[in-house]
Amino acid sequence: MHIHPRQAFFAHLAQTSSSPMNIHIVKAEGNYLFDADGQRYLDLIAGIGVCNIGHQHPKVVAVVQEQSANFMHVMVYGETIQSPQSLFAHNLVQYLPPSLDCCYFVNSGAEAIDGAMKLAKRVTGKTDFVAQTDAYHGSSQGPLSLMSNEYYSQAYRPLLPSVHFIAQDDIEGLENIPWSRVAAVVVELIQAERGAKPSGKEFIASLRDKCTQHGSLLIFDEIQTAMGRTGTLFAFEQYGVIPDVLVLGKAIGGGMPMGAFIASRKRMHTLSENPILGHLTTFGGHPVVAAAGNAAFEVLLEEKLMDEVSVKEQLFRRLLQHERIRAIHGKGLLLAIELSDHEEVSSLIQTMLSRGIFSDWFLYAPHCLRIAPPLTITGDEIAFACSSITEILDEI
Ligand code: PMP
Repeated sequence: MHIHPRQAFFAHLAQTSSSPMNIHIVKAEGNYLFDADGQRYLDLIAGIGVCNIGHQHPKVVAVVQEQSANFMHVMVYGETIQSPQSLFAHNLVQYLPPSLDCCYFVNSGAEAIDGAMKLAKRVTGKTDFVAQTDAYHGSSQGPLSLMSNEYYSQAYRPLLPSVHFIAQDDIEGLENIPWSRVAAVVVELIQAERGAKPSGKEFIASLRDKCTQHGSLLIFDEIQTAMGRTGTLFAFEQYGVIPDVLVLGKAIGGGMPMGAFIASRKRMHTLSENPILGHLTTFGGHPVVAAAGNAAFEVLLEEKLMDEVSVKEQLFRRLLQHERIRAIHGKGLLLAIELSDHEEVSSLIQTMLSRGIFSDWFLYAPHCLRIAPPLTITGDEIAFACSSITEILDEI
C-alpha cells in the first residue's frame, strides 16, 4: 500500500485541468505554505480568498480540537440545538442590518447561492433571475445557470431557464428586463474572477431601486469579498445599499468548508413550511466548522485586521510600478495585476513559485495576477512580494 501522494493524486484523484499547480503541501502557518521539499512560500492568494486571518491561527486550531473531541456530526441541519452554529449565527448578525437576522449555514459558496435562489423563488413566487455577465457564482447547476460564460456552461445545458444577463454597470440595460417575472438579481459587488472589477455605486443603487419597485430580491454574492477582504467586514457597507439576501462562503469558515445565505427571519421561514423541509442539508453548519468560523470571526474583529487593509492595498499599489503592469484593479486585498496576456502571467507565476511566492490568475482574466493574501500579510512581506514581482518582470 505504499504509494507516493503525488502518484496517487494523478492516478486516483479527479482532476480539474491538465495543469494543476502540482505542489505537495505538507504544512501551513500564518502567511506561509510549506511543501514536501521544505520550500516555504509566501501565500499571496489565501486559498482563493479563504484564509483571511492567516493559516492555523492558534485560536481556530484550539476550538477545532476542542469541538471535535466533544462532538462532530450528530444530526442533520435544523433539528438539534448545537452551540457552535447557533452562537456563530448570533455573532454574525450583530454586525448586519436588522433585516439580515437569520442565517442558513451550508457547506460551500455554490450551495449558498443555490439556497438563496430557492429562497427568492419562495418569497416572490416568481421564476426568473438577473445576473451579471462574466460573474462567477459556483460550479453546481443553479449557480452555473447564472453564469454567462458559454465556455464553461455550454456542455452542461439545459440549465435553469429564464436567466437574464446584464453587463456590470449597464444601468440603461435594466430597462429591458421583464421585472414582473424576476425573483432575484444576483450580483457580485466586485466581480472577482473577471479580474477584481468593482461595480459602480450608481449601478448597485439602481439594482436596489428596481428590486424594491418590482418586488424582486436583491442578492449580494459576497463569497469572495466579505470577512474584511475589501477593508470593511462586508463590501456592501461601502455601497450604502442593503441586500435582501447576503451570501457568504470562503473565509466564513475560518479555513473550513462553509457557506451561508442570510435574510430576514420572516423570509427565511418560507423554506420551512408548505412544503416543510423546503431546503435541507446534512452537514450544513457542522459543529467543528461553525466553531472554526466563529473563532476566525472573533480573531478578525479582535485583531482589527480590517483596519489595515486599505494601507496594505496602497502599499501594493505604490510598490507595484512597472512598465509591463498595465493596470491594478480591485479593492482592499482583492487585487488584480493586469499584464498583456496569459503567457506572461503564467511565466510570472512559475518564477514567483521558484522564488517562494504562491499566486495564481483569475478564471475569466487569465492575463491578471491574483493578489489576495491573508489580511495578516506584513509590510515587509508586501515589499518582498512586490520587489520580486517587478524584478521577475524585468527578467521574463
Ligand atoms: N461566488 C464567488 C464570487 C466565488 O468567488 C466563488 C468561488 N470562487 C463561488 C461563488 C463558489 O464558491 P464554492 O467554490 O465554495 O462553491
